[in-house]
Amino acid sequence: MTSTERGIAAAEAHSAHNYHPLPVVVATAEGAWVTDVEGRRYLDMLAGYSALNFGHGNRRLLDAAKAQLERVTLTSRAFHHDRFADFCTQLAELCGMELVLPMNTGAEAVETAVKTARKWGYKVKGVPDGRAKIIVADNNFHGRTTTIVSFSTDPEARADFGPYTPGFEIVPYGDLAALEAAVDADTVAVLLEPIQGEAGVLVPPPGYLAGVRELTRNRNVLFIADEIQSGLGRTGRTFACEHEGVVPDMYVLGKALGGGVVPVSAVVSSREVLGVYAPGEHGSTFGGNPLACAVALEVIAMLRTGEFQQRAAELGEHLHSELAQLAAGGAVAAVRGRGLWAGVDINPSRGTGREISEQLMARGVLVKDTHGSTIRLAPPLVISKEDLDWGLDQLRGVLEG
Ligand SMILES: *Cc1c(COP(=O)(O)O)cnc(C)c1O
Repeated sequence: MTSTERGIAAAEAHSAHNYHPLPVVVATAEGAWVTDVEGRRYLDMLAGYSALNFGHGNRRLLDAAKAQLERVTLTSRAFHHDRFADFCTQLAELCGMELVLPMNTGAEAVETAVKTARKWGYKVKGVPDGRAKIIVADNNFHGRTTTIVSFSTDPEARADFGPYTPGFEIVPYGDLAALEAAVDADTVAVLLEPIQGEAGVLVPPPGYLAGVRELTRNRNVLFIADEIQSGLGRTGRTFACEHEGVVPDMYVLGKALGGGVVPVSAVVSSREVLGVYAPGEHGSTFGGNPLACAVALEVIAMLRTGEFQQRAAELGEHLHSELAQLAAGGAVAAVRGRGLWAGVDINPSRGTGREISEQLMARGVLVKDTHGSTIRLAPPLVISKEDLDWGLDQLRGVLEG
């Protein structure tokens, strides 16, 4: 047995099988590259679903984390700590908003957004108690809690986890008329991914997000943008909403906010919206802890330079022109995306997404398939153009070879 085989067998023997990882056992990583237990190197073209936008082992982030590890790591929100105010102030400023409510994982931040919208609906909008409705899109991915899977349309994510939380209505993604028809007097929020990541990097039709913004403003409904995967540089802007000049009422952030070091998530909004909370009404033991704040502050500082957004825009343009050539050659059925983020629909005659992922792995490139025939490309934004081209050469080799 190789050490890879031993590692996989041991993992399978002692963990729930809620994932089907590629057969690689990573030992170390740096930048856009990971090394496995047998010393083989792979280009990481998934980047922890965008949690690793700044690459593995980013020096600035590691230094920030190490310095904070030696000072204080956890206080709970029962006490103040000296990184909290800066974190909230600077994140609010990055978002052009007023208040921050920190949590840990993305799903917790989405839950927080749902609770906030409901409370705002009752306390500010005046919706009768127990009637608040939140509109979501089909094919959404917002996390894995019982409430969130209640409004999933993915049978894998939802089946056998009921009874489901009521209060959600699902409309087709990208269909403004359907959304308009669903809004009623009890509607408190529309919750959307500005680009649907797990669905296969689906970019909505031009004008959709701007239309959602106008509709929600006119009907006194909150527009909640789940930018957990699309935000913080991935698309070539700080937020994917910016591509349509849209500012939502609330950003939901996660993944890259923790720099790939610690889980950090947050809801960011106005005083009118996040001001609905009083002490004791919501919280989290680890949310906004000193280590999380220290790492996230460094993430925010890096985003303020604009350097990563620019890299994503420039390398993204290159990525999409290369993928367009592959599509023109017939090797792939369709490509979509924005910035350094792409969904590639494999021509079924070439194999499933999983098979293509395994073939890419054999050539030293790690990607993740989704929904059978799609692979997602989301390398760290720090990837070099040479490495990106090498990764694309491997994809070409697998599809055309
Ligand atoms: C990953 C993701 C989540 C859930 O985040 P977790 O940290 O895995 O709970 C929610 N929304 C979107 C858009 C995501 O990509």
